[in-house]
Amino acid sequence: MSRDGAAPEKLRELRDEVKRRIDYRTFYLRYCPEARQSGARLQSLCPIPAHGHSGKGNPSLSIDLQQGLFNCFSRDEGGDAITFYELMHGATFARAVRELARELGIVGGRGRRPSLASASAPDASDAEAEVFEPLDAEQTASVCARFLEICRAEEQLEGHAYLARRGIDAATARRAGITYFPRRAYRRVMRRMLDAFPVETLRRAGLFNRKEHLTFYRHRLLFPFYVGGRPLYLQARTTAAGVEPRWHNMRGHVPALYNADALDPLPTGGVVYLVEGFTDTLTLLAHGFAAVGLVGAGGLKEEWLAPLARFRVVAALDPDAAGRRAAARYRELFAARSMSLAVVELPSDVNDFFRQHPAAALELELLTETALEEVDSSQ
Ligand SMILES: [Zn+2]
Repeated sequence: MSRDGAAPEKLRELRDEVKRRIDYRTFYLRYCPEARQSGARLQSLCPIPAHGHSGKGNPSLSIDLQQGLFNCFSRDEGGDAITFYELMHGATFARAVRELARELGIVGGRGRRPSLASASAPDASDAEAEVFEPLDAEQTASVCARFLEICRAEEQLEGHAYLARRGIDAATARRAGITYFPRRAYRRVMRRMLDAFPVETLRRAGLFNRKEHLTFYRHRLLFPFYVGGRPLYLQARTTAAGVEPRWHNMRGHVPALYNADALDPLPTGGVVYLVEGFTDTLTLLAHGFAAVGLVGAGGLKEEWLAPLARFRVVAALDPDAAGRRAAARYRELFAARSMSLAVVELPSDVNDFFRQHPAAALELELLTETALEEVDSSQ
């Protein structure tokens, strides 16, 4: 009897710890990257394999980010994040709990020893929000700038090598302010940040957690968002394979299109590409094109359009359903402001296109010309 009871008890404790640590938004977005957020809810097409949805039609999956609960209206099935994991991976409850615990760094690779990865885990978002006022722009900029400066003093090689494998050269990376630090520098970077700011400030920025550790442990390739010459936001990527989630960011919201600040010196009437993500943006920059990036296909905000008004904007989003939907929606957004958006569709995302086609730059120019002519003739 007692032997049977022991394991489930431990498992229940582990489950509770998973629920305390998990960031629901990050978790669900991994499976539903196209989800739309409104308030504390996500709405998405339902990816649960056993439901066998067509992938078309209305989003049937609703997610409550506060409680971490999902519900698929179409199949009338719902539950918590662990149930969701079970359904997505065809896993048992025990496997789901253990795998999630490992991902969150609650248990180490084999044993139960809490690791540096665990100490650096970001706080659950709801717990954070209660305690802290976010920093103002001035403070955010000074924390970000210092963080970048400290990291830049470390060896950049692995970060540059990672980008180079994606066709992004070191000069382009440097111009975009991309900064890296190796894992072996983690404690030093953490210490230097603590020397520069009170820990409360660092926690308010979302750079440090409740355990007063830097949360950028697995994610050390930093992509800053500059607004008016100041870094106001950071997203960081892991350069290791198999680490989920792949992205981590500080607190706050994406303040602008990625690389929007670089448009300032460009001549009016020039072509600017609107693409998805950092890699596609940087790929175009590396080839001498002007480009700004969305974080996720659906991420364009209306207030970001004004700085684009003096350019000829050409969307080159991913050639998938989400990319097409987004392009159609953005056309309307632009039209509502008496702006026009040309759209080119490449056979793959921008980065793959440039890696696979030696004449990619020329092909993109030709497609762009055609797309711009279409826009002109429809006016
Ligand atoms: Zn479903």
